Amino acid sequence: MPELPEVETVAQGLERRALGRRVAAVEVRHPGVIVGAAEEFVSTLEGRRLVDVSRKGKALALELAAEDGSGPRFLLVRLGMTGQFTVTPREAPVESHTHVLLALDDGREELRFRDVRRFGRLRSCTREELEAILGALGPDAQRMTERQFLAAMRGRHGAIKSWLMNQNLLAGLGNIYADEALFEARIHPLSQPGRVSPEKAHRLYRAIRKVLDRAVRLGGTTFSDYLDAEGRPGAFLKKLRVYQHAGEPCRRCGHAIRRIVIAGRSSHFCLRCQPRPRVTARMRGPRAFGA
Ligand SMILES: [Zn+2]
Repeated sequence: MPELPEVETVAQGLERRALGRRVAAVEVRHPGVIVGAAEEFVSTLEGRRLVDVSRKGKALALELAAEDGSGPRFLLVRLGMTGQFTVTPREAPVESHTHVLLALDDGREELRFRDVRRFGRLRSCTREELEAILGALGPDAQRMTERQFLAAMRGRHGAIKSWLMNQNLLAGLGNIYADEALFEARIHPLSQPGRVSPEKAHRLYRAIRKVLDRAVRLGGTTFSDYLDAEGRPGAFLKKLRVYQHAGEPCRRCGHAIRRIVIAGRSSHFCLRCQPRPRVTARMRGPRAFGA
């Protein structure tokens, strides 16, 4: 599923291909992916010009300015599990599971939102609404300062793996990059965030930034559905060290990569490079993973 590097790649593609262009017409084929009324979604976005593309965590926001000088609207895009948001020539066949189409300029190209599993959402909002939504998220994992990172970690119980994926504490990481960052930092996924040493915390901060930056440079990771704004898959898949490599030798030490389940999600790690700390979170049970 798309995490920060994939959403960032989509944002960069939209900047290249769609910035400055006008949304001439909006067609909603499946209102279930729209937050709020589909009619309002269409009427508040049609005729506006895309003036800015931004991202926080896995949320993508397109700022649309009105020609008449009324306040801006924001198209908030969440790709969910299998969402694709692409700039596509209008003559290209509309694939199944395409739920929303936004015609650009004279209609020769359009933005298409396609989502097989339909966990993705589009929403038209005001600046105040957008700020409230993004304000509920933790600091962005690619732009956070080390001070913000350490503050978010302080006193936290439960598995560090679950903590990394809690969007209200730290925005952008999902299962793939949380596993990769913990491997890079040599931290066991069941370590407790509030109990890791300052040295390990510093290593994890650096590891997160490094893994995310590398993944962005390669356009993210595609397992099956993810495509960038120009319809291309990401190339980071072959750079993954532990995620979905259970049973294979660790690239660093040669021991077999393990897989365990934490809060219902698979975690992949090397027990030799990421030794189990003396104090760990419980492996199962809601109390340890209230987040
Ligand atoms: Zn190893």
